[in-house]
Amino acid sequence: MTLTPMTDPDLAERAAWAVLRDVTDPEIPVLTLEDLGVIRAVAVDAQAHAAHVTITPTYSGCPAMQTMEIDIRDRLLRAGFKTVEVETVLSPAWTTDWLSETGREKLRDYGIAPPARGQGTGKAVLMGHDPVVACPQCGSEDTKPISEFGSTACKALYRCNSCLEPFDYFKCI
Ligand SMILES: [Zn+2]
Repeated sequence: MTLTPMTDPDLAERAAWAVLRDVTDPEIPVLTLEDLGVIRAVAVDAQAHAAHVTITPTYSGCPAMQTMEIDIRDRLLRAGFKTVEVETVLSPAWTTDWLSETGREKLRDYGIAPPARGQGTGKAVLMGHDPVVACPQCGSEDTKPISEFGSTACKALYRCNSCLEPFDYFKCI
């Protein structure tokens, strides 16, 4: 894909989105940043070949966010933008409801239970009100948390009482 000449603002903005659609979550490579819903805004100055991307991290302590920022900058620079700014906005805070339907399906296919709807920031989980988490293997809702921390900080480890398989639950908060 070539972006030059990039004098049409609409075209430049669409080009920036097209690039961003390809950036994936470093921890869950099947999920794009678009699936996650972390990209809030993209502003493009076509004349200056500059892009300003606003993102909201899935949670402020997520170590993957720094990698995402570097990826975003790198991809846009390689696509022909000369200046790339990535701004992090913490308010309103990202909630698991921002995860797209496509993103939820991809998680299930990947063997990770997507976050339960309406969990908001996920604080309910921390307060001991366990959400209903369906097993990505067999779909059973008879599951229980084994550990607050799965393979990464963004996941909790669960086990299915039906098929006895352990699985990750995406609980990025
Ligand atoms: Zn199961």
